[in-house]
Amino acid sequence: MEIEPLVGPCGKLPILIRDDDTNFFTMKSMLQSIYSEAWSKGFKVSLSVIPLQKGTDDMCVPPNFRKSGLLYPITNNGTLIKFLRDKLQKGEIEVLQHGSSHSVVESYRGEFGMNTSDQEANLKRAISIMKEAFEIRPRFFVPPYDDISYKNLKLVKKYGLIPIYGRESINKFFRSPFIPAFFKKMAAKKIYQKFGKSAYVVPVMINILGNNLYNNSNKYKNADDNDCHVRAAGAEAINTLPPVGLPIEKLISPVSFLDSISKILSLASLNRSRISSLCIINHYHQYFNDWNKTITRTNMFNSWQKLLSCLTGDTAFDDNCQYLNFGWKTTFSELYNRFRKIKRTITASKTGSKITIQSISDSETVDNLSFLITYGSLEKLYDTENVTLEKESNIITIKEVLPKSKFNIYVND
Ligand SMILES: [Zn+2]
Repeated sequence: MEIEPLVGPCGKLPILIRDDDTNFFTMKSMLQSIYSEAWSKGFKVSLSVIPLQKGTDDMCVPPNFRKSGLLYPITNNGTLIKFLRDKLQKGEIEVLQHGSSHSVVESYRGEFGMNTSDQEANLKRAISIMKEAFEIRPRFFVPPYDDISYKNLKLVKKYGLIPIYGRESINKFFRSPFIPAFFKKMAAKKIYQKFGKSAYVVPVMINILGNNLYNNSNKYKNADDNDCHVRAAGAEAINTLPPVGLPIEKLISPVSFLDSISKILSLASLNRSRISSLCIINHYHQYFNDWNKTITRTNMFNSWQKLLSCLTGDTAFDDNCQYLNFGWKTTFSELYNRFRKIKRTITASKTGSKITIQSISDSETVDNLSFLITYGSLEKLYDTENVTLEKESNIITIKEVLPKSKFNIYVND
């Protein structure tokens, strides 16, 4: 028998909503109209905030400012900052750093995709603006356009930021030192021409530290072990979904979008660990095309509302009337903290038919720690006082793993 630890409490599927591009120009009413429903349903929204938006031809800049070429620190929008601080305090949002100025270099590349000499100074300035705005040091870093070079990955880590980025072949292509810049520019141009002005909601998977939670495993101890990796949701099973960050027409049409979502959720309900965390990437400004005062993309907005109600379990997500009643509404910080805690606290070992799950911590308790049985079955003689079976019989939960405690589970292969 094989077991795999799950990061969500009681084996729940972590669900994150990430909204990119909050900047100096963002009006609080825009965020309110897109997220008030999400907040009332108990979701938290991870906002990727641009510290120092540049006035360029960028969809996240209002049309009148696209030629200014100036830098707009988010701290200059007092009303927005007050709103965001209040939301932070209530725990309804978390703030991620989204690049520094969101500008495009060499026509089509993201500012962190290229290695420029002023990169470090820009990053330092951007971090200090984030600190001034939110009175906390940003912890996570989302590169604009999901474009970041190896050198800049190192740079952001040097400043204590955990990068959240894609590792699909398209991302590797742009990062590769062996592919001439010219080809990358051509590819970036093509992508921009095809999708640059589109609107889309992208479901992705978030993996932290590879797939393995055990701290006694050396398998995933790479240099970038602590990063958050963004992957196309269900890439292994559903090939109709786009690579991360690449919107395709399928997702733009409300019908095919909801169809794709229902496939992802079916997959998640069948195999919780493979879809380690589901993250929905959204862009509030796309609903107000092009910086209209009210929502103009009403189809997209209706799909978004429908998606929220599927993710909450209020509406069935497929034709077989399946409901998602195993979602854990969370943030990058919460997910990351829980992941790290499990990883430094828990070990598992197997001798014969006995699996021993053990806490090696002197002080930390892990609540509702779940394991997925990927092969074999449980023997009846498991510790029923502390270990419970979830509705899905292949998931077990230990209510409380106290410091230095130990659990034996007996299994049949
Ligand atoms: Zn962006």
